[in-house]
Amino acid sequence: MSASASRPSPSTQQMPQWYEDGLPHIWLPYSQMKTASAPLAAVRTHDTHIELADGRELVDGVAAWWTACHGYNHPHIRAAVSAQLAAMPHIMFGGTVHEPALRLAARLCAMLPGDLERVFFTDSGSVSVEVAMKMAIQYRLNKGETGRTKLLAFKGGYHGDTLATMAVCDPEEGMHHLYGSALAEHIIAPLPQDEASTAEFLRLLKNHAHELTAIMTEPLVQGAGGMLFHSPEVLRTLRKAADDHDLLLILDEIFTGFGRTGSMFAYEQAGIVPDIVTLSKALTGGTLALAATVARRHVFEAFLSDNPEHALMHGPTFMANPLACACANASLDLFETEPRLEQVQAINAFLTDALEPCRTLPGVKDVRTMGAIGVVELEKIANPDALRQRFIAEGVWIRPFRSIIYLTPAFTITQSDLKTLTDTIYRVLSA
Ligand SMILES: *Cc1c(COP(=O)(O)O)cnc(C)c1O
Repeated sequence: MSASASRPSPSTQQMPQWYEDGLPHIWLPYSQMKTASAPLAAVRTHDTHIELADGRELVDGVAAWWTACHGYNHPHIRAAVSAQLAAMPHIMFGGTVHEPALRLAARLCAMLPGDLERVFFTDSGSVSVEVAMKMAIQYRLNKGETGRTKLLAFKGGYHGDTLATMAVCDPEEGMHHLYGSALAEHIIAPLPQDEASTAEFLRLLKNHAHELTAIMTEPLVQGAGGMLFHSPEVLRTLRKAADDHDLLLILDEIFTGFGRTGSMFAYEQAGIVPDIVTLSKALTGGTLALAATVARRHVFEAFLSDNPEHALMHGPTFMANPLACACANASLDLFETEPRLEQVQAINAFLTDALEPCRTLPGVKDVRTMGAIGVVELEKIANPDALRQRFIAEGVWIRPFRSIIYLTPAFTITQSDLKTLTDTIYRVLSA
């Protein structure tokens, strides 16, 4: 690990030619391009480290939007991708199938508790949510139930950036006011967590049940909405509400899936079975883009018919990409052969201890952890970009947003790297 202070800072260094030439032609995510600070020029990754073009090396607290759960460049994943690359990098899934996809589908269904048994592969989380929404809507149409095309989703929720998924995000996060009539109308309720929110949730449910097909939430953690935690009891309430009103329950496990909350899938902690589950992010261990929408038997059976219009009309070009599926299989191997859930427990114990002292710092509103997620919530972060620059100057990659600083490290992170991250947060917040 390098001490960033001993290395030249980017401003005093000539940036590589590709950076100078290409940056004027790139549109960056979630950035006000007029004022955003310059992005880092990353040249290599390994384990939980990011190497920059100017020679600095950062300890990574985010794991590439929490996808790289085995650390970067894991040799087992690299070998699987290389072998698949030599055999068959890609083939259309319309009419052909292959071992990586079929093995992966069978393994995912065996891992997911309940009779979740049909996998539809896509190439991004947002699209897997859109597929779940299409499944839920067409499920009604195929049964001859008209007018039930809406979903009930939740304040604080995040399900993607595409137009259809924005409409089921938190109204503020999904910028419902800005996009206005370009977004479909769904019902956004508070999560039923106490008496008042439960009453409001049940009121909305009762008033809208006739036009609803499904309830959708992220289980246990609303990630992009601010790393907001809720108890397994909330999921049991949602399961019961869905049953009472003949609704499907869709759980978006894109953030929580594959160990992040301490169990392989978050919903296991509630002892319930959802009707549809979406997976992505850590599915390939952060190496390639892949997502999956997994449905229970009764959902799939509503699409079996002699009527061609009852088929699910969806099929991304790079659906079930063999490289990505090989990658995901290699990632699942690692969950089987290495003690990932124990590592998550150890990370949780460490984060819980190490972040606790932040609680008494001025401006800190809350400190919370779940699984391999650590959160320090502030009253307000005036300038998240400037705070990110402070962290970079200290040699760590942490990306504050809204009013939170969070860690979602690789499960393989060393104790010393973890300590570097938590010490830095404490030091920067104390200053
Ligand atoms: C990241 C995320 C998505 C969107 O996935 P993309 O691959 O970015 O489209 C959807 N739902 C949740 C819970 C996520 O964390």
